[in-house]
Amino acid sequence: MITCEEFFAEFADYLENQVSLEVRQELELHLSQCRACHVLYDSTRKTIRIVSESNSFDLPQNVLEPIIDRVMAKLRTDPS
Ligand SMILES: [Zn+2]
Repeated sequence: MITCEEFFAEFADYLENQVSLEVRQELELHLSQCRACHVLYDSTRKTIRIVSESNSFDLPQNVLEPIIDRVMAKLRTDPS
């Protein structure tokens, strides 16, 4: 199984459907087994939905990355 660091490294690409099928399967396996990353995924998806609904353009990388950084920083300071 991949580590959380490997998950985070691919996470933005995964959300934008930029990963290969093999990587996608590894990430989804990790998501199903890692609670912290599942929380990250869930929070980020919700945030992206809010951002996406407020403007109808595709989400650029420079919007997505700060969201992920913020969620990850919260997870690191609150490891419950
Ligand atoms: Zn993880």
